[in-house]
Amino acid sequence: MFKNKLNYLPKGKRTQQAKYNKYALIGLVIVAGVAVLWQPQSADSLDPSSTTIAAQPASEATPTFDAADMDPNAPEFQLEQDELALKLDDGLTVFSYAIGKNDNNLQDILIKHGLNLSLDYENVISAFRREQPKLQSDRKGGYSSAFRFIDEGMFIEWVVETDQTAFGASVPRINEISIYDHSKQRKYRFERNIALFDFNIIDVVGNTQQLIVAGEVTTTFYDAALQAGLSNSQIKQLVSMLQWRFDFSEQVHEGDRFAVSLEKEFFDGRAIGHGRVLGFTYQSKDGDLTAMRHADGYFYDNEGQSMEDGFSRLPLEKSFRISSHFNPRRVHPITGQVRAHKGTDFAVPRGTNVLTTASGTVVKSEYHYAAGNYIVIRHGRDYMTRYLHLDERLVEVGDEVAIGQKIGLSGNTGRSTGPHLHYELIHRNSAVNAMTFPLPNGVPLKELEKDVFITNLQKLQTALLDAINSQLRTS
Ligand SMILES: [Zn+2]
Repeated sequence: MFKNKLNYLPKGKRTQQAKYNKYALIGLVIVAGVAVLWQPQSADSLDPSSTTIAAQPASEATPTFDAADMDPNAPEFQLEQDELALKLDDGLTVFSYAIGKNDNNLQDILIKHGLNLSLDYENVISAFRREQPKLQSDRKGGYSSAFRFIDEGMFIEWVVETDQTAFGASVPRINEISIYDHSKQRKYRFERNIALFDFNIIDVVGNTQQLIVAGEVTTTFYDAALQAGLSNSQIKQLVSMLQWRFDFSEQVHEGDRFAVSLEKEFFDGRAIGHGRVLGFTYQSKDGDLTAMRHADGYFYDNEGQSMEDGFSRLPLEKSFRISSHFNPRRVHPITGQVRAHKGTDFAVPRGTNVLTTASGTVVKSEYHYAAGNYIVIRHGRDYMTRYLHLDERLVEVGDEVAIGQKIGLSGNTGRSTGPHLHYELIHRNSAVNAMTFPLPNGVPLKELEKDVFITNLQKLQTALLDAINSQLRTS
């Protein structure tokens, strides 16, 4: 079982519910007026989080039901975190993304991933401007605008560090950004240096070494991997890349063997970066699994199939009007306070089929006075989806669901003033915009690339198996 932070429980306000009910009618009258003055086009009145706060006078006894007020640590919303997840939690998160046709600016890519780190971004840009002459020879006229050099087919990876403040808030900051240009065999690297960033261009050839480590499980995979020489960050990469196919907690047995191919990069003679995992083979009594990183940065198996499961964008059979958008900085019109709306609301009539957006396991299916009938589904280790205010729940905790499966009927239960579906996507414990977040797509390699990839993977596999065998001889 996994623990994840769920964010929609009101903070210890249940005792005030009775008071709320008395005010509800008056509140609704007030909100009707407010809705006209404030974003009349967005039909926010459908959303319990917007209407109830608008409805309440800002006094101490006023209950609010906005997502910003919901306690992520409330026991009924906690999912347990397994031992592996606890060990891997070092406050660092590695994001990776293949740059597409429509990406022309690094900041947009970060924002799409739910990271609005404007100060860090400014510092990255100034590092880039400072070092820009290094890039001049590449393109006529240089790069007048920051990050014009990013192009379709490049692969970007960045590491975010989360610091806890004295008040218990999490403050994310960028640690490192690497942009891989496969066609030029080089890498652009931004590395945090106190508040600023250093920028370097690294030629992959000559500055990158590959090494292979192997091990055997005696207790847990985590311990075996550490013993084999993998860092926490490298184990995290493995766990994340294989999350759709293999559970490093549940499917690991004593005596399983594995080998990992790693990249070690150097700049000015010193080792840098977090050491990317390039390939992996795992042998267990249930069978073997081998995967390798392609030039696009993603992992594919020995048939060229993606290691990821696909996601659909919408939890519905067709698209409906969005009555309230995801908005982490939505400002309340009367109090001026920031009240995040952590999901997307669809204006669906009561009884509309609600579909799960990816395959996964049901981890919550119950009634909550604010969320109504709601369902939470875990997908791999990194993703969860939540479906609120349902009329009917059609799945139970522990059920395995397939992408597109009907899991419930939409409704108007809980603190909701009109029929709608509130849908949330959670990536590594933070709610992200489900309508724009780059979703895993699970697309296999194209025929042309596939043959070359499979040939290379077979070569690597031979080397990985050799490493396992020689490791066993010496141990
Ligand atoms: Zn909502």
